[in-house]
Amino acid sequence: LSPEDIELEPDSHLGAGACGVVMKGVIKQSGIPVAVKTVKVDDQAKREQLINEIRGLVAADGCVNLVHWYAGFMSKRTMIVHVALEFMDLGSLADLKKRLGGYGVEPVYLSNITAQIMNGLDYLHKKKMLHRDIKPENILHNRQGEVKLTDFGIAKDLDQTLAMAGTFVGTVTYMSPERCLGQDYSFASDIWSVGMVIFELSTGRYPFADVTSFVVLFDHLCEQPEPRLDPEYFPAELVEFDAYCLTRDVSRRPDTEFLLAHPFVTYNVPTVEQLAEWLVSFSG
Ligand code: ATP
Ligand code: MG
Repeated sequence: LSPEDIELEPDSHLGAGACGVVMKGVIKQSGIPVAVKTVKVDDQAKREQLINEIRGLVAADGCVNLVHWYAGFMSKRTMIVHVALEFMDLGSLADLKKRLGGYGVEPVYLSNITAQIMNGLDYLHKKKMLHRDIKPENILHNRQGEVKLTDFGIAKDLDQTLAMAGTFVGTVTYMSPERCLGQDYSFASDIWSVGMVIFELSTGRYPFADVTSFVVLFDHLCEQPEPRLDPEYFPAELVEFDAYCLTRDVSRRPDTEFLLAHPFVTYNVPTVEQLAEWLVSFSG
C-alpha cells in the first residue's frame, strides 16, 4: 500500500490523543474502511524508536484481539507518520462508558469483554511484548462484538515522554503502584491496568475519586487499600478476578495465563454474537 491507496473521509475526525489525530479513511481498491492515525515524530531518536515499534506491530499481527495494522507511511519532509489501522466502528471502551451514561457494563457482558482483552494481552506477552498504555481509549470494539487492543506498538514511549515533560497530565491514570514508585514497566503492570479498566467499566466510574495531584495518586496507589468491587453488588467471580489484577504486590499478581483460566472469563460467558447484540442495542 502507498499513501495514494487510501482516501481520507473529509470531516471524519474519530478522535485525538497526545500525539495526533485519528481520521476515517478507505482503501480505494478494496473499499475496506480504515482508521488513519497521524503521529508527529520531530527528531531522529523518536523516528528510530517508532520504526522499532512498527517492527513490533508487524510481529504481533495475527491475533483477533489486537487491532490489525495495514500500513505505515513516513513523510521525511514533514516528519509525520500515518498509520492505517483496522477501523473499529463502535470506537473505544471510553465511548462505551459514555454511552452507558454513568451505569456500569452488565457483569455478564463484561466477562466476554474481559476475556477478549486478556486474550489480546496474552498474545502480546507470549511474544515478550508489553502493552504499556492500557486504558479505555486504547481498547476498541465493533458491531461484531469484537474487542481489540490498540496502541501497543506505536507512540507508547512518545506518550510517556510527553506525560513526564509536563507535571501532572490528566487526573485519570491506569498506572500500577510499582510504576508510580519509578520501577520498570513489566508484564504485571499491564495486568494492573486491565484491573483498573474492569473496575471502571463495572461501576461506571474511575476507581479513585479525587486524584488532583501526583501526591494524591501516590497515596491511592501505594498507601491506601487496593480498589475492590463491592461483593454486595457484583458477582463473586468478577470481584475476585478484579482483586487478582489489582494486587499491589507484583510477585503475587497473576499472569494472563492464570487469569484466562479464571471462572469469570470461562464459566457462563456469552458468545461474541450475544455481546454484539447487546452492544448494538444501545449504540443506535
Ligand atoms: P493517546 O494519545 O494517549 O493514545 P488516545 O488513545 O485517546 O490517547 P489516539 O490513540 O490518538 O488517542 O486515539 C484517539 C481516539 O480515536 C480513540 O480514543 C478512539 O476513539 C479513536 N480511534 C483510534 N483508533 C481507532 C480505530 N482503529 N478505529 C476507530 N476509532 C479509533
Ligand atoms: Mg490511543
